Amino acid sequence: MNRFIHWTCSGGLAASLVLLVAAPVGAGQDLTMMQKDPGTWVLPGKDYGVTRYSPLDQINSANVKDLEVAWTFSTGTLQGLEGAPLVLNNTMYFVTSFPNIVYALDLTKAGAPMKWKYTPKQDPTVPGVACCDLVNRGVAYADGKIFFNQLDATTVALDARTGKVVWSAKQGDPKKGQTITGAPLVIKDKVFTGISGGEFGVRGFITANDIKTGRQIWRMYSAGPDSDVGIGANFKPFYKDHKGKDLGVTTWKGDEWTRGGGTTWGWYSYDPELDLFYYNTGNPGSWNPDQRPGDNKWSMTMWARDPDDGMAVWAYQMTPHDAWDYDGVNESILADLEVGGTLRKVAVHFDRNGFAYTVDRTSGEVLVAQPYGPVNWAKGVDLKTGRPIEDPTKRTKQGQNTTDICPSAMGFKDQQPAAFSPRTKLFYVPTNNLCMDYEGVEVSYTAGLPYVGAIVKTYAGPGGHRGAFIAWDATTGKKVWEIKEPFSAWGGALVTASDIVFYGTMEGWFKAVDARSGRELWKFKTGAGIIGAPMTYIGPDGKQYVAILAGVGGWSGATVSLDLSLDDPTAALGAVNAFKDLGDYVAKSGMLFVFALD
Ligand code: CA
Repeated sequence: MNRFIHWTCSGGLAASLVLLVAAPVGAGQDLTMMQKDPGTWVLPGKDYGVTRYSPLDQINSANVKDLEVAWTFSTGTLQGLEGAPLVLNNTMYFVTSFPNIVYALDLTKAGAPMKWKYTPKQDPTVPGVACCDLVNRGVAYADGKIFFNQLDATTVALDARTGKVVWSAKQGDPKKGQTITGAPLVIKDKVFTGISGGEFGVRGFITANDIKTGRQIWRMYSAGPDSDVGIGANFKPFYKDHKGKDLGVTTWKGDEWTRGGGTTWGWYSYDPELDLFYYNTGNPGSWNPDQRPGDNKWSMTMWARDPDDGMAVWAYQMTPHDAWDYDGVNESILADLEVGGTLRKVAVHFDRNGFAYTVDRTSGEVLVAQPYGPVNWAKGVDLKTGRPIEDPTKRTKQGQNTTDICPSAMGFKDQQPAAFSPRTKLFYVPTNNLCMDYEGVEVSYTAGLPYVGAIVKTYAGPGGHRGAFIAWDATTGKKVWEIKEPFSAWGGALVTASDIVFYGTMEGWFKAVDARSGRELWKFKTGAGIIGAPMTYIGPDGKQYVAILAGVGGWSGATVSLDLSLDDPTAALGAVNAFKDLGDYVAKSGMLFVFALD
């Protein structure tokens, strides 16, 4: 660890000393420095801003055509692989889909053999309550430990050197539909984890546990009275209709808030200077809007919280009274951008609802909100109130099939994380081009059974392609370039200091394109569909490597990974119709590919 501290402190000793005085010294202190080491990848999104930007530049636009497979590794699993490996101390760490095997690979040896492998023992009935395949989005590192979440809603800390369990903490009960698929994030001495189960009537929450012992420090819910939600004297939302007492109860009908969704399975970000933790909440339950009149706070909400006590500082609800499953969980990428002639600290969020939000991350004020695909459920976002300007003909109802709604429930972007380059000032966004028909149906709640209440059919949007990889200017809310893809671009993005962007496709292409023009520079067919996120690091030999997990699945790829029948187009919450031909291109697989220049 000394190597990292030495490297990062050489230029900023004074700033580091200020931080040491201002905050208790914990593992997160090391992470704020370790994240700056260009050769490693110690946080799920590379850095606390989840930019997925790497300062490495050995692989550039002139030589990327010579990129070759350096080594591969079979994960031993056949469900969808989301997320990216971590690399530190010449070791690569990653977690697979269920049963969530964690691997530590030794990068100092040819072919990277295992240092250790940890296979959790989980109840075999747990996959039955997973919404959308059996994915997991990655591990976290701090304090000599690897943290990950099991599908059965258990957070586990392993000794990074040995793979032995240090502690485990039960966060939820799969018998009530509670599972975890997200990657944890460590801030200072706490590990933050969310919960999945928005389709099972789970009331979402976010939890902070002590990294040394696993003891729960705080838990804040996405609905309920202010005391449950962590709203107190320091809560200063920007918009008027976010102010008031116990809105997490009063914006719901009856006790619907107790099964109100707002789950928290996306990637989280953190601003060490503002000391604010950012995460977003998902759709309200059920999907039938007529069962839960009201704004349904605090589902579909971007949150800024104090990481120490969990108390909210501001919140912004993107989609009040959601009627489309526009899960708001997508990541918020932190950048400092000039908006309207003023340098602003912003959080940029590509929401499932089809709008890209540029938000002042100190206050929650929306500065820019523009569609990044062919949105038709709303004509725009009113920046005075923060509310969408809806087209009433696209609002779904119980007992009526509303047709041609764009985007679909899968959003123009789902889990696939975008990247931001401080060099080009552009965001690189893997997107879906999907629309849908949606009918609300009455549903009653039974613990551990789906609480969906909608029939959905999904299909390609305008143009007939199902995805695109785009470059986005968040200061103006405009698309800069676009690469159309036959399937959704359901994997993540990586951008490097040599202005190259990497991303993968559901049918298995791993591509490098020019960050300024979108011109294709290189591609490789992995033979396994990609829904994971690329990462890059420096090996012990001083060379730059690029890694990607390949294994199709998730919501979009469930037709293949779960061997679904193609008879019912509305099956898998509408995914079957959208991706019924995926099996013509890829089969079930689980592979890690690592590339380098020869
Ligand atoms: Ca959802």
